[in-house]
Amino acid sequence: QQHRRLISRQRFITDFSQCLFEFVVQLLPTTEEMAVKEDVRKLLERLIRTIEPDSRLLSFGSSANGFSLKNSDMDLCCLIDSGERLNAADLVTMVGDLLERETKFHVKPLPHARIPIVKLTLDPSPALPFGIACDIGFENRLALENTRLLMCYASIDPARVRTMVLFLKVWSKRRKINSPYKGTLSSYGYVLLVIYFLVHVKNPPILPNLQQMPPLRPISEEESHLNGFNIWFFDDIELLRQRWKSSNTDTVAELLIEFFKFYSRDFAYNTGVASIRAGLLKKDAKGWLSEDYGTGRERNRLCIEDPFETDFNVARCVTKDGLYTIRGEFMRASRILQARPDRAILALAQLCE
Ligand code: ATP
Ligand code: MG
Repeated sequence: QQHRRLISRQRFITDFSQCLFEFVVQLLPTTEEMAVKEDVRKLLERLIRTIEPDSRLLSFGSSANGFSLKNSDMDLCCLIDSGERLNAADLVTMVGDLLERETKFHVKPLPHARIPIVKLTLDPSPALPFGIACDIGFENRLALENTRLLMCYASIDPARVRTMVLFLKVWSKRRKINSPYKGTLSSYGYVLLVIYFLVHVKNPPILPNLQQMPPLRPISEEESHLNGFNIWFFDDIELLRQRWKSSNTDTVAELLIEFFKFYSRDFAYNTGVASIRAGLLKKDAKGWLSEDYGTGRERNRLCIEDPFETDFNVARCVTKDGLYTIRGEFMRASRILQARPDRAILALAQLCE
């Protein structure tokens, strides 16, 4: 009896991995979509250069880190190479006016946000059935670096890392727990939870800690720091691919099942901070206890340290209710996958209902 159960569980794991791969592949953006987005980037860059001739417009976020899905928004960052430049708020206003005049985008400048941005949207059309949503920020160099860090992690073990991340992004969107504005977590936050799990929870680890690997040559303070933050990490992908071979052979299905189990009951939500740079940290050691913020909104229910901006909690938007909902969803997923489902495809459909 037990033997038969074991075999059927094994078969489920194999099928579920296969289903995950097939599910994720059909969610990837098409080459056409990527080409259109690249054209949009070039067009916007050309227009912005009429205001700031020495500027470059670069992609970050999912369009540049290997975790993009069909119809993902575009995150763009404008870098200005000349010495004298306007402040971000003024740039946002000027670029907003310009794009309003010169393009068909709906334009919403947010010059006073924590990170000033211009929000653009394009209505759906036959060529672009979902339209385009795009945010342009200025001089956000740390975001470009964290994008590069995630991209490196994705390319070390794409079959397992990319599949897990893409699945969790879709799952969190379908389950409506991917809205920082409504008290839940951003995609970026979920990606960091996955990497934390693969570097620090899994034993043997699936991924190395790129921020703690010894550099191949001495690195000066100037090279390694940006705005006072250490942004160095091991980024020689070719070398990593040759040298890093995890001895952990878990399949993507097994990893996902454990991921849900870990974040439904084992992670120390009350006291812990998930740091991909340093492993499990303590909220009190970082001064991230909720009380520290007085009577204001609680900001540290869930704590995820930004990989470079270490005094910044990526999950600061997650409210008490939001965290309750997110953990509830981790538990639900865990339950579905533990319930000895016999058809993997049905389990997957139920997960993302
Ligand atoms: P999606 O496909 O859902 O848009 P994404 O991979 O683009 O996912 P986002 O959450 O949109 O992820 O984040 C894009 C980028 O914005 C991240 O790479 C990061 O640089 C920055 N970012 C997003 N959220 C935060 C946050 N809470 N704190 C700091 N940086 C963030
Ligand atoms: Mg994005």
